[in-house]
Amino acid sequence: MYPVRPPDFELRAYYAALYDAWGEQHWWPAQSRFEVIAGAYLAQNTSWKNVEKALRNLRRSRALNAAVIRDMPLARLEALVRPAGYFRQKALRLKQFACFLQERYQGSLDRMFAQPTAALRQELLALNGVGPETADSILLYAGAHSVFVVDAYTRRILERHGLVDQRAGYDQIRELCERSLAAIGAADEVAPGRTVPSPLAHRPSRMSCARLSPATRRYNQMHGLIVLAGKLHCHKQAPNCEGCPLQRFLPS
Ligand code: SF4
Repeated sequence: MYPVRPPDFELRAYYAALYDAWGEQHWWPAQSRFEVIAGAYLAQNTSWKNVEKALRNLRRSRALNAAVIRDMPLARLEALVRPAGYFRQKALRLKQFACFLQERYQGSLDRMFAQPTAALRQELLALNGVGPETADSILLYAGAHSVFVVDAYTRRILERHGLVDQRAGYDQIRELCERSLAAIGAADEVAPGRTVPSPLAHRPSRMSCARLSPATRRYNQMHGLIVLAGKLHCHKQAPNCEGCPLQRFLPS
């Protein structure tokens, strides 16, 4: 077991160390806001490789569009998203999102994302199959809202470093990360555009290069960097700390 440290939170230093080691991750790799939303639904309980296959099918069928998905026969949509697994459930949920967008915002993502963050978050959470991670991924990566996405890697790393304990809820961790990263001053800001040969970085895309506020940009970058740390080093069964940029922060 790892000891739980008091909340003298050092996440800013973690961010700098990860960014220094691996630079820009260009997450989320998408050409449009709707592609991010579709990806967020499809990414549940599967690998990104499978999501890419399903997105490719949707792109080839010119179906990366809410109106097209809304009007498409369900069986056709199921066939297109099949590579992402749970395809019946995911196709239905994507259709439900497209219907929600039409009924509540006349099909306009501009109108939807113009809502205050907290109110829109509640609306997204009320949709079938949208939990906090999916809602916040949509808010941050499609809507450029200033929210941090907490995933299993975030929780695992913070727990192993004694920064949160196992009882911490999603929103508690999210607020902790947001507070810490938002507090970075201009003098401590990492220089944008750092490119390092990084094994899992994505190619720049329209969405990953969008203009963001400084705090939103940090939330965006940090999530991608944490995913990389989780994939390369902080494995579920046994962490491989050797060479991990966060090794020097481990509690003794
Ligand atoms: S692998 Fe990295 S993030 Fe995970 S416990 Fe070790 S040093 Fe920390």
